[in-house]
Amino acid sequence: MRILLASSEVHPYSKTGGLADMAGALAKALAREGHHVGLVTPLYTGIRERFPGLKHLDRKLSLPLGSRRVQGEVWTLDTMEGLTFYMIEQPDFYLRPSLYQKDGMDYSDNAERFVFLSKAVVDLARHLSWQPDLVHVHDWQVGLVPLFIQHEKRVTGWGNAPRTCLTIHNLSYQGVFPSALYPLTNLPWDYFTPEGVEFYKQFNCLKAGIAYANAITTVSPRYAREITTEEFGCGLDGLLRSRQASITGILNGVDYEEWNTTHNPYIRYPYSSEDFSGKTANKLALQKELDLPVDGAIPLFGSINRLVEQKGVDIQLGALEEMLSGKLQFVLLGAGATPFERGYRNLAQRYPSKVAVRFGYDQALAHRIEAACDFFLMPSRFEPCGLNQMYSLRYGTIPIVRVTGGLDDTVTDVSEDPGTADGIKFMEYSSRALAKSIRKALALYAEPAVLEHYRLNGMAVDFSWDRTAQEYTRLYQRILET
Ligand code: ADP
Repeated sequence: MRILLASSEVHPYSKTGGLADMAGALAKALAREGHHVGLVTPLYTGIRERFPGLKHLDRKLSLPLGSRRVQGEVWTLDTMEGLTFYMIEQPDFYLRPSLYQKDGMDYSDNAERFVFLSKAVVDLARHLSWQPDLVHVHDWQVGLVPLFIQHEKRVTGWGNAPRTCLTIHNLSYQGVFPSALYPLTNLPWDYFTPEGVEFYKQFNCLKAGIAYANAITTVSPRYAREITTEEFGCGLDGLLRSRQASITGILNGVDYEEWNTTHNPYIRYPYSSEDFSGKTANKLALQKELDLPVDGAIPLFGSINRLVEQKGVDIQLGALEEMLSGKLQFVLLGAGATPFERGYRNLAQRYPSKVAVRFGYDQALAHRIEAACDFFLMPSRFEPCGLNQMYSLRYGTIPIVRVTGGLDDTVTDVSEDPGTADGIKFMEYSSRALAKSIRKALALYAEPAVLEHYRLNGMAVDFSWDRTAQEYTRLYQRILET
């Protein structure tokens, strides 16, 4: 099959969260399956310098954006057989210090930036030397693509137009803009209806994808069910229920080439299920690095997050407050909002021998924390898939998760199956419930044989991309047949 993917972030070129991991890994896994794969993404600051293998594509973009035309260039990068990245160069839009925001505020021209990206995807789908059978777009930034394709097919007789698939990585980010910006699409107002892109008089990019894609996926089965409910539907549950037959939940995979404990440039002391001794050495090294008392016997809890409400920051702070009088340490790596940073900083100041916090985005430290910790906290309000709990399992770090979305699909609690238990789950969204789980973790830590049972179970679980890519392939086949 010939598949064109599109995502506003792709690891290792750009990343703010799990979307980037998923897009990069899906592209590779589909190419390994033997498909012909392209992936369209912006050329952000620094990519040209870091990846000198980029080649200029002989196709200039000149796309209408409301009343003006915007020019762009396309660069390609071939990293493996069957996979080409198409990076859209538009310096005014994409050469910025960060992807979507400055000082916690969205860039004021995000509508222009991502309507342009969506148009570039459609231009390539139509004019590349190879014609994709299917265009698979990810999240709101390219949510308009299915609508653009459908519209072009209708008005210009694009006979062999590709079929389309939209993956929702997080329904709470929809790309909603004032209706005055709808003309940026250059589409007729016929689509600006409650069944189309209109959302309470505003213009909603993700909704365009939900309404017009041939198929919709989410990144875990449980989240696919949750988004059709009022509680998790973010105002789109009605539309999603009407499209229920076209929604599939496919659990993300893990890129074990990158997230492993045996061949990993970020992990100083490799370890495996046969020999855990390296894990303790990593723990001692991290305690030293973060100025915590160096003691292998103290249970170490970790958390790596974008600091946003979704991740359960409030109940995490509350639970730690309750538990920190006990014998434990906690480390946090977080990127995001200042008020949340303040909460953690305050905790670290009051418990300097128990809490260490680092702010910013640091891939290497993320690996070191996963490798060093005994337990990993993910008390999310909602979690479309979540990757860190899966990384934790492979790293022999026991995840403590709330029962929601992909967290529920990937972690097994002792109450579900003692034989395969590999984590601790709690249901109620409260500090008290999380604190109770931390107490269970401390009890588990005091029973080395049971602790090892959990660790071995977790390390044996396989979320590799091959299974995920096969599920997408089966879905693509179904889309092409209908
Ligand atoms: P989300 O996409 O909602 O941010 P996921 O769990 O799906 O959550 O993916 C988060 C990804 O981003 C993981 O690879 C995680 O390790 C990484 N990550 C999040 N915050 C940081 C940070 N501050 N530094 C390094 N990596 C981070």
